[in-house]
Amino acid sequence: MCLFCKIVNKEIPANIIAEDENFLAFHDINPKAPVHILVIPKIHVDSFDEVNGETMAGITKFMQDIAKETKLNESGYRVITNIGENGGQEVKHLHFHLLGGAKLKWEHFTDADPKDFL
Ligand code: AMP
Ligand code: ZN
Repeated sequence: MCLFCKIVNKEIPANIIAEDENFLAFHDINPKAPVHILVIPKIHVDSFDEVNGETMAGITKFMQDIAKETKLNESGYRVITNIGENGGQEVKHLHFHLLGGAKLKWEHFTDADPKDFL
């Protein structure tokens, strides 16, 4: 069973923010911003690459509700999902990072010259 499935099953503790029948939100253990929340479906989905529209519709509403409850929506925030090797995905269970609480940086993600790929 993967790490986040263990959190869903309460086999591993997490600092849970919100939960319903289908989704779970908890604080990232190694935050990269003042607010860093992870949102996952309770069913195991490997990554965004595998997710269906129904789960996306549900998790979108769930994330929007969290943004309202935490007031992230008032100051702005970022939603990120990493996919696979190049995306830097470490945990192979679909998760969305909700980041905020301060003005976030927006820089080049690689030393490769983007113009080489145009
Ligand atoms: P990613 O690199 O997109 O796969 O993100 C995985 C995230 O999970 C990282 O930001 C980690 O800090 C976070 N993480 C790993 N283990 C735990 C845990 N037990 N509880 C909360 N967050 C975790
Ligand atoms: Zn899983």
